[in-house]
Amino acid sequence: MASSDDIKVPPEGLDSGLDDHSEELSERSEADAQVRFYRAMAETDVDFDRLLDRLAKAVAEVIFDFCVVYLSDDEGQIRCPCAYHPHPGTLQSLHDAFTNTTPGLGDGLVERVIASRDSYFRPRWRPSLLQPYTSDGQTPSMPDIAIHSLMVVPMITTDGACLGALLVGRHTTTLSYDEADLALTEWIASNAAMKLETARLYRDLRETNRQLDAAVQARDTFISIASHQLRTPLSTLKLQSDALRRTAANKPETLTAEQVLSKVDSIDRQVDYLDRLVDQLLDVTRILDGSVDIHWQRCDLEGVINEVTARFEHAAADAGSDLTVDCPDPLVGLWDRQRLDHILTNLVSNAIKYGEGSGVEVIGRRDHDEALLRVRDGGRGIPPQAQDTIFERFERAVDARNKEGLGLGLWIVREYVNSLDGTIDVESTPGEGSTFTVRLPIEPPSAK
Ligand code: ADP
Repeated sequence: MASSDDIKVPPEGLDSGLDDHSEELSERSEADAQVRFYRAMAETDVDFDRLLDRLAKAVAEVIFDFCVVYLSDDEGQIRCPCAYHPHPGTLQSLHDAFTNTTPGLGDGLVERVIASRDSYFRPRWRPSLLQPYTSDGQTPSMPDIAIHSLMVVPMITTDGACLGALLVGRHTTTLSYDEADLALTEWIASNAAMKLETARLYRDLRETNRQLDAAVQARDTFISIASHQLRTPLSTLKLQSDALRRTAANKPETLTAEQVLSKVDSIDRQVDYLDRLVDQLLDVTRILDGSVDIHWQRCDLEGVINEVTARFEHAAADAGSDLTVDCPDPLVGLWDRQRLDHILTNLVSNAIKYGEGSGVEVIGRRDHDEALLRVRDGGRGIPPQAQDTIFERFERAVDARNKEGLGLGLWIVREYVNSLDGTIDVESTPGEGSTFTVRLPIEPPSAK
């Protein structure tokens, strides 16, 4: 497993003048060292970052003189979160050489150890031994301290995953590492791997818990908003039908065709609104479970614009908004017609709802390889701080509370626009109105 590559020439003039641990080292037995390591790690809690710091310190104190900890993430990227040396000045030199530069002094070597899972053991070490591990094959420049003995040991869990490596080096004593030091460091590394794995699982578990809490909170918010929003049109429907029934039962002679039509129109509007709410709920469910494939087809955006705006003619008139279309030519692209319909329906419905009776304009244009769809109103506008968040689920600008809505429409729009490889943004000035701009590639890469 470990390979030794003793260099016959002892290092000269490399002592940094720090304390020499020779006596302590020669008196130390492996069992003692294990006990010291256990003691040093005993107070460790399951906090991942604190555990790493403590690990670097414990290893440096048991093996001497310094320790640099490397971790390998799920994508195989290696990072170096901590190092320890008892003297702050030397620790800084170590950081400068190993962790604060790219590539760090030990990077190539550590990568090799993690990939091969074999320990690197050089009781007599010199900088030229790093040559095979550097990208340019040169001897790297060394930190101020003169390392003369070096080991890099992989941290392998019981189920065989390699979490990273411990790099330990000596510079203060003339005693080089021996086989017993290597065995001890390998024992520490596998022990540390277990502790790190436990801490990592605990950290992941806490993160999952946090996400679950947020999801439950979002679901509760959603249920309360949805039930409130569904109840409002239902109450209005009930009031209208009760009034009709009462008049028909008690004073049928007073009921004119106009009155009946007006009540039925009002009922129709509530039914349309309920219909849109249910559509939005279904859209969200479909997006979240990915149950509906995109149905790529050649379709004409101009046709969709005309169809959707015709559907909103009455709602716009009721709101006192003049709804106009500016799309002079057919605009054919490879899209999903139903998604285009939902995108436009949500934007036009919002422009009428928040437009405060201003004109609402729907513009369609070709712009090089893209179709440009704009929905503009001259209504209340959106405060700058809300212009990003309104695209999130359940997010509504503060002043929208007095309008009916689930806070889902723009989230659905953005999801659908993204699915067609497009983009959406908003420009708005409070009190002057809002313009939502959707850009859709005519031939989306995802359609191929
Ligand atoms: P909803 O309209 O159901 O609240 P949306 O997701 O469609 O949900 O919109 C989110 C929020 O964005 C709205 O609550 C409103 O605050 C703001 N908004 C959307 N469109 C406009 C618009 N045209 N003018 C002003 N505010 C708007």
